[in-house]
Amino acid sequence: MKSRILLVEDNEQNRYLATFLLEQAGFTLVHASDGREAIEAARREPPDLVLMDIQMPEMDGYEAAQRLMEIDGCEKVPIVAVTSYAMAGDRARAMKIGFAGYIEKPIETTSFVETVRHFLPATKEVSS
Ligand code: MN
Repeated sequence: MKSRILLVEDNEQNRYLATFLLEQAGFTLVHASDGREAIEAARREPPDLVLMDIQMPEMDGYEAAQRLMEIDGCEKVPIVAVTSYAMAGDRARAMKIGFAGYIEKPIETTSFVETVRHFLPATKEVSS
């Protein structure tokens, strides 16, 4: 069974690159372009992993993550912050809230997929 990743990202270029890399690696992607859409998507069907941008309109990544953690079935879903290298304060705050970890932007194409796999629950890894 393919792992489902909820990609929460408001920047089209970042979304395109992450989607390309992850779909090529066999993951199923669900998209949200802000925090509110992320909540709606997670309520419809809890994903196996969330990749969360921090700076977004409507609802930022911190608030979206905190709300996601309270949704039935999402309590144990790892949420990984995807933040700019420069934003060290973002990462510290994300870890304090309960994010599973963070990935730095710009996305490193050679290591991105492996890093994402590292955060997936072991039983749900893609077997391709
Ligand atoms: Mn953003």
